[in-house]
Amino acid sequence: MEGARVRTLAARAAGAGGFAPGGPLPCGVKISFTSSVTLERYFRIGLRVKTAHNGTMDPVSPLEQSLHAARALVLADLVAGEVAEADVVSLVEDSVVQRRWWVEQWPEGAGYVAGLVAQDVQDALLERYGRWPLCPVCGSGDPHALDVEPELGPDPHWVCHKAGVKVASVGSLGRATGSGTSSS
Ligand SMILES: [Zn+2]
Repeated sequence: MEGARVRTLAARAAGAGGFAPGGPLPCGVKISFTSSVTLERYFRIGLRVKTAHNGTMDPVSPLEQSLHAARALVLADLVAGEVAEADVVSLVEDSVVQRRWWVEQWPEGAGYVAGLVAQDVQDALLERYGRWPLCPVCGSGDPHALDVEPELGPDPHWVCHKAGVKVASVGSLGRATGSGTSSS
């Protein structure tokens, strides 16, 4: 159990802030590759040091899956509203980049990412283009946008507050508006 022994020594050295008794590690001086990786992991758990770009990140971690799903869902809604142009898609990418940072700080929020990306894109579109997505439920009156509910939670939906109804899940707006993947 060489790894476990190194881990223990590394933790002890880090905790004591000095020499590990009997160990090969003068703390902070000429740490071997194995020890520095172990120490990095130790500090990441204990102190939330930013992940180093060491090439060992898993490309299909649950975090990445949630980001990938969020991107796909919001893009589907943009396609349904026929606003998925290149510069709009880049708004989604911008949001995903920011939310990757966010969810790295708070992994428990992975299930909330889709709703957050939807709101980010909605805000960005409001500045540049106008309201999105327009409510498909209310036939008359002022055109108004749908809102995401919950603002911070799992299973986000588009809702119309005027009519007081859930319109569709985020990612399923095409079915509610009749555009996109209609079978008729
Ligand atoms: Zn409405």
